[in-house]
Amino acid sequence: MKTIATELLNELSRKGRRCHHVPASDVEADHGLPASALSAAPPALPEVGEIDLIRHFVNLSTRNMAIDTSFYPLGSCTMKYNPKRHERLAGLPGLAGVHPLQPDDSCQGMLQIMYEMQQFLCEISGLPACSLQPAAGAQGELTALYVAAAYFRHRKQTHKSRVLVPDSAHGTNPASAALAGFEAVTVKSGPDGLVDVNDLASKLDDKTAVFMITNPNTLGLFESRIVEIAKRVHDVGGLVYLDGANMNAILGLTRPGDFGADMQHYNVHKTFTGPHGGGGPGSGPITVRDFLEPFLPSPMVVKDGDRYRLDSDRPLSIGRVRGYFGTIGILLRGWFYIRTLGAAGLREVSEVAVLNANYLREKVKDIYAVPYGDRCLHEFVASAKKLRAEKKISAMEVAKRLLDFGFHAPTVYFPLVVPEALMMEPTETESKETLDQFAEVLRTIAGEDAAFLKEAPHTTAISRPDEVKAAKEPILHWKR
Ligand SMILES: *Cc1c(COP(=O)(O)O)cnc(C)c1O
Repeated sequence: MKTIATELLNELSRKGRRCHHVPASDVEADHGLPASALSAAPPALPEVGEIDLIRHFVNLSTRNMAIDTSFYPLGSCTMKYNPKRHERLAGLPGLAGVHPLQPDDSCQGMLQIMYEMQQFLCEISGLPACSLQPAAGAQGELTALYVAAAYFRHRKQTHKSRVLVPDSAHGTNPASAALAGFEAVTVKSGPDGLVDVNDLASKLDDKTAVFMITNPNTLGLFESRIVEIAKRVHDVGGLVYLDGANMNAILGLTRPGDFGADMQHYNVHKTFTGPHGGGGPGSGPITVRDFLEPFLPSPMVVKDGDRYRLDSDRPLSIGRVRGYFGTIGILLRGWFYIRTLGAAGLREVSEVAVLNANYLREKVKDIYAVPYGDRCLHEFVASAKKLRAEKKISAMEVAKRLLDFGFHAPTVYFPLVVPEALMMEPTETESKETLDQFAEVLRTIAGEDAAFLKEAPHTTAISRPDEVKAAKEPILHWKR
């Protein structure tokens, strides 16, 4: 397999070039290894000077879009600014240097932070018990479904075999249901973009284990009948699962536990600013109702008097779902974020996220129609259907062309209920000026020539790679 290092070797390496010089050793080497274990020749590593090395990697780093370089309205992913202060705090030796196998007594500070994080997440969701272990939202879903399965097994309700999922849900929802051993059943959306309660009612029965709902949903709309929906699910003995990826819209405004959810995951990397993108790192803690607490992963952080410890004495637990305590680096950043903003600050986050999304929506909706809802929460799904019909400009063309203007593309072609979908989530961290510029550029693109747009982007290092090949057969070298 090609690696950056070997390609760098091929292209930049010159025999004898060095970034450093180590003085010749004045003592005899005595490594104690048998001669048979020694390599005859040193490894073929690239030989480069420091300046070439630095330029190589810095140049590569500028070939990607990033939240630190560009507006990044990638719907559902909550690409908000990640405060740099949190990077410094997470790197403090007392945190970064803690070993996961240290005795509890020697890492009370870290355990306290984890314990408080559990409590914050419980308070924000209105659900009383928390596991920090899951490594991402998708694993949070899977973990919660394992917890639900363990709960039903414990009650000898093994006929509870189905998980109901709305058709607008993220693909991870039905995948988690199948992986956890349930049968995934699709529930339709109505003409208003919300769960069709009649369709749900027709699919609810004694076999229903869990109904998974995203609220606000992927159209950026609040499921206004959620209390009635939750009651119907509970009436057949099922549990309500909230996909909490969209928590950025409702922090401090409402709580899933209050509107009927029994379990939920968070995406700490989205809502609480863990730097993410490119696949990680994530953190997907779950919170659940008290009757589900015995089944949560083990260990959990507990407090005895004024001491914190890890509790592994949990006989009904589903066990571990991840090594050690979860993605601690991202959980720390989440704790800094929550502590920095406080309750009022978190509520303001959601208020401004919703305001920004509605502002952008109003500025573009005459050209990019928004088929569902008169107002949105933290995101909205616009459509390039009219542009496509009238001028052969598709959502894909708009997305690609935005890169030329220095903007990351919105999420495209999802959710499937909107044709030529452009799902935009500006987040609360963007200024009015940025939103104005972005709306202006969207309007400019709508007036451009379709043939020119088919070739976009025109200014990036590469234009339109084969998207499958780009992922499966990456070319990792860069020729000057
Ligand atoms: C991001 C997301 C997920 C999955 O979360 P990961 O942390 O990426 O695993 C699930 N549901 C929705 C609605 C999401 O936006």
